[in-house]
Amino acid sequence: MSEPVRVPRSSSNLPTKPCVVCGRVITWRKKWERDWDQVRYCSDACRRSKTTPVDEALEAAILELLRARARGKTICPSEAAKRVEPDAWRPLMEPARAAARRLVARGVAEITQRGRAVDPSTARGPIRIRLV
Ligand SMILES: [Zn+2]
Repeated sequence: MSEPVRVPRSSSNLPTKPCVVCGRVITWRKKWERDWDQVRYCSDACRRSKTTPVDEALEAAILELLRARARGKTICPSEAAKRVEPDAWRPLMEPARAAARRLVARGVAEITQRGRAVDPSTARGPIRIRLV
């Protein structure tokens, strides 16, 4: 078993934290020297979008689906999207991936590809989610 991927270290050893909206890693920058503790969003897009009740429903759906499954089993983000919006789930695919990244940042879940935990900030292509 590999170590769970939480907030990965940046290559430069600068402090990092997860974006509260998309769950991607934010790496410390000089311009945040004084207010790093208040930094919550990785980008203006995330600052504008914030998290919505749908985002919270996606997190809850991921956790419900995983808890209903045997330990160590995975789900696809599309399963959570379909649970939240059965007839219009496709637009929720990226929000479902973001919900998964937030759960990873909280240490609740991990994102896997081909059965191995991967860095959620940089994973490309199909992912699966499992409980830590
Ligand atoms: Zn973000």
